[in-house]
Order: sequence, then C-alpha cells, then structure tokens
Amino acid sequence: MSDPAAAEKPAQKTTNPAKKAASVRKASPARKTAAKKTASARKPTSARKPVATTAPAPATESHTALVRRARRINRELAEVYPYAHPELDFENSFQLIVATVLSAQTTDLRVNQTTPTLFAKYPTPEDLAGADPEVVEEILRPCGFFRAKTKSVIGLSKALVENHGGEVPGRLEDLVKLPGVGRKTAFVVLGNAFGRPGITVDTHFQRLVRRWKWTEATDPDKIETAVGALFPKSEWTMLSHHVIFHGRRICHARKPACGACPIAPLCPAFGEGETDPEKAAKLLKYEKGGFPGQRLNPPQSYLDAGGIPARPLGAAG
Ligand code: SF4
Repeated sequence: MSDPAAAEKPAQKTTNPAKKAASVRKASPARKTAAKKTASARKPTSARKPVATTAPAPATESHTALVRRARRINRELAEVYPYAHPELDFENSFQLIVATVLSAQTTDLRVNQTTPTLFAKYPTPEDLAGADPEVVEEILRPCGFFRAKTKSVIGLSKALVENHGGEVPGRLEDLVKLPGVGRKTAFVVLGNAFGRPGITVDTHFQRLVRRWKWTEATDPDKIETAVGALFPKSEWTMLSHHVIFHGRRICHARKPACGACPIAPLCPAFGEGETDPEKAAKLLKYEKGGFPGQRLNPPQSYLDAGGIPARPLGAAG
C-alpha cells in the first residue's frame, strides 16, 4: 500500500517527486536514530522547510491538465509503492471474496488474523454453505458486525453452490447479486482474482481523489466513473492499489503527513495535514520488516533503503 528522507541527504532540495519518494523511503526511525548525531551536526535546514506545492488551483485547471496531473500522481505513487497489492490474504477467488466481505468496517489486518481459522475449518463454498452460523459467528466475532457478516458469507457460499457450481463468477453482474457483495467487493475480486480492470472505491480512495480534486463527487459509483475517465482501463486495478496504499500510509483521514508526502507538489490539498517534514515523518504508518499478512512483501532493497515502519498498519486512516 514510504517515508521521508530528511536524515540522509537533508541539505538537498528537490522538486522531483520521485526523489522525494526516495527520500521518503529513507526516514525510518532506525536510521534516524543511527544518523542522529551526524544529522544534527549538519543542521539540515532545507529539510525542515515545508514542501512547496505547484499544484494548480482546481478552478483554473483544464480537463487535459487534470488528466496529466492525475496520471503523474499515479506514476509517482507507482514508484513509491512498486509492490502495491491487495492487503487481504487469500489463496483463491473464494477466499478473496469472503475476506473482502469481512473487511467492511474493520482493518485488513484484523481480517487476516481471522480468516486462517475460518478457511481451515471451511475451505470451500460447500463447507461454508453448510456451516453452523453460531460457530461461524464465534470465529468472525473479532471482525465486528459478526452476525451480519456470518449471514453474508454463509449466504454467498450458498449462492455460489446453488447458482454457480461452487465457483466464484467472473462477471460483475453475477458478483453483485451475491449476498453482501457490492460493486467495491466485486471490483476487488474481478481485478485481483480474474485480472479484469476495476476501480476499488473504498474509504481511502474516496478521500484521496477528492483531496486531489480528481472529482467533487461523493457517491462511490460517480467517483468510479469520474476517476475511470482519467485513466486507461488497463491501469484501474493498480491505480486503486496505489491510492489505497497512499491513504493508509501517508495521506491519513485525520492528519495527512503532507511534509513527508512524495506527491505534495501535485496536490491541491497540501497543507491539510502536517507540513513540517520531521513531524510529518512521525505520522507515517509502516510495518517493520515487511507487511504481515501480505502475500507479497516489499522488496528487500526497499527495506534496506529505509522503508521501515514506525508502527503497525491496521488502524483505519
Ligand atoms: S493531502 Fe497532504 S498527504 Fe495527502 S496527498 Fe496531499 S500533500 Fe500528500
């Protein structure tokens, strides 16, 4: 789903977001501790200045300019999060659809802690369709809304067995008819289990695209349409991962870490959060040594470069 680099090359000022991204990767607490003496000796004055933003006033931005800026943001995020991927653990499309349904109103981390027990006991749609709801409720209790979620996952398993031969269908119109499955869940499944492009409009996605003035819409379907029009279809799935990764790690709901943000020069909302680089660095959310529960960890080279987390992921925004 990334940290500021003030500690290593503090005196160098850059307007290149890719370089900022590289610097973001260097500012791990571990490195900060190690470099504390030399950093303080060097007095990194420019690193403490807020990042200058060159993002245009949205009112004056043409559609063409918006498309260019949006695509540039996505390219920059692709450099910062080259390993972006769904953060739910799954081994097949059935596990993915169940995990995605369970992820409503809770964190992926919590779901990843719960699903191993669920899938060990009920590995197939047939198994879950015939499960005792009370047993499933106990397993799902940590995910919150466990009664409703139990009803959904048993109901969708029954629907898979009765209407789709025990297989997860690969068409949007079939997926959204399954209990507990909306367009967001359907696109997660289509994009990540079937390789079909889809935009995942979750809470992070909604917040960030509005901050970036990609759209003023608040309805998820309208957001999906507006953002989809800015990008080639082939980029939709990875775009969703990049945006959600950024929302979880840097551009938080309550206090975005603007001073540590690699796309600050492209963001009209720069300044909505903390702009001081050192204070902003403390707001970043990472996971030391990788991202537990993820199917792909970031490359070791990334971690070696300082992409070491300050605190566990999992808390929403
Ligand atoms: S609001 Fe701040 S953290 Fe979010 S994208 Fe803009 S500059 Fe970055």
